[in-house]
Amino acid sequence: MSEIEIFRKEVRVWLEENCPKSLRKRWDDPFSEFSVLRKLRTGDASLWLEAMIAKGWTTPTWPKEYGGGGLSRHQNAVLQSEMARIAAPQPVLGMGTSMIGPTLLDLGTEEQKKAHLPGIVKSETRWCQGYSEPNAGSDLANVQAKAVDKGDHFVINGSKTWTSGAQFATWMFCLVRTGKYEKKQQGISFLLFEMDQPGITIKPIRLISGNSPFCETFLDDAKALKENLVGKLDEGWTVGKRLLQHERSSIGSAPSSSGKEKSKVPAVVKFARKYHGEVDGRIDNPELRTDIIRHLMNTKAFKLTAKRAFDEAKAGASSGETTSMFKFYGSENTQERHELLVSIMGTNALAWEGEDFSETELSTLRTWLSGKATTIYGGSSEIQMNIISKRVLGLPE
Ligand SMILES: Cc1cc2nc3c(=O)[nH]c(=O)nc-3n(C[C@H](O)[C@H](O)[C@H](O)COP(=O)(O)OP(=O)(O)OC[C@H]3O[C@@H](n4cnc5c(N)ncnc54)[C@H](O)[C@@H]3O)c2cc1C
Repeated sequence: MSEIEIFRKEVRVWLEENCPKSLRKRWDDPFSEFSVLRKLRTGDASLWLEAMIAKGWTTPTWPKEYGGGGLSRHQNAVLQSEMARIAAPQPVLGMGTSMIGPTLLDLGTEEQKKAHLPGIVKSETRWCQGYSEPNAGSDLANVQAKAVDKGDHFVINGSKTWTSGAQFATWMFCLVRTGKYEKKQQGISFLLFEMDQPGITIKPIRLISGNSPFCETFLDDAKALKENLVGKLDEGWTVGKRLLQHERSSIGSAPSSSGKEKSKVPAVVKFARKYHGEVDGRIDNPELRTDIIRHLMNTKAFKLTAKRAFDEAKAGASSGETTSMFKFYGSENTQERHELLVSIMGTNALAWEGEDFSETELSTLRTWLSGKATTIYGGSSEIQMNIISKRVLGLPE
């Protein structure tokens, strides 16, 4: 048996013993019971979280010295596929593990890594992203929030918008203007600061669904300690871009695949069988069959491309900008799947609430709606196409 097969066996046994059965199901909704229990750190969610923290598997590939699991990417792929096999939920999600943590690992000082990474691993800190402003979305380098040097700290004034989870966050990573510039990408710095301080006002933006996933965040003499400047003063654009690459690869990452998963029937096929029936083992709707095949082929091609990029990255041959390809295609592919699921459901897709609809019908519609945002946040699809044409394909302006 190869080393990786032995590892898979150990992981399987460990997960069987440590992942509470009550949690083994899909928790698509970010406002799910699991998400709430995890925040409150009670019940089975807490048992699962503590067990995973002890293993370092809340951040499996991070170095052990910061509390991570020290796994190779290959071992992590095995862990993820084994978790997917039994529908074990990710114990810690968010901008800490997917964005600021990996950025600090790449570009932070040793002190910054020691100060911030363990809190993310243990889910003790929650991060939000202070990038967008009323006049700086796609044109992010136009940020106007200003930080002034006051010796051992900076004082920040300005406003950020669309700040996801700001009302629950303990820390913010932020792009601010600190210096003069000829090109607008210059004179920007990347700062970290605590949210619980007098200079910060958070106003949740209420959506038609009733939820408030993001906020307006006002900074009036907010403070950031000098030790929390990441990268060099006035050169934060490089750090900010690196973070976006991590964000984009996490938005666009292809679903993990394991041997078992491959034999599973995709949700679109299950839905089609349920709502359209079968004749002689085939879905009873030729047009739908064509749409499903096209979608499954696209998904397969995407997974293979992601795997090739993963292998190239291991060999040091891929550039950070290729993450835009995955962000672009991954989010479009996810939306395609949601569209297909909703169209297959027909009038059952009108489910909003009520006992007449199944849990799956209710969550499918909501996931379809919330999925609309994936081609906007982290940089819209148009912006990814601009980056791909300029930086990956090398086309002229
Ligand atoms: C659910 C959600 C969560 C978010 N969370 C956060 C967060 O936590 N922190 C944060 O900082 N931001 C967050 N954002 C903001 C997000 O990053 C911006 O919405 C996004 O970058 C687009 O900026 P904008 O909304 O200002 O649109 P605009 O920049 O005004 O763009 C409007 C339209 O014009 C197109 N466009 C703009 N410029 C070009 C161009 N040069 N070429 C071609 N087309 C162009 C865009 O693609 C888009 O379709 C979030 C957004 C959403 C939807």
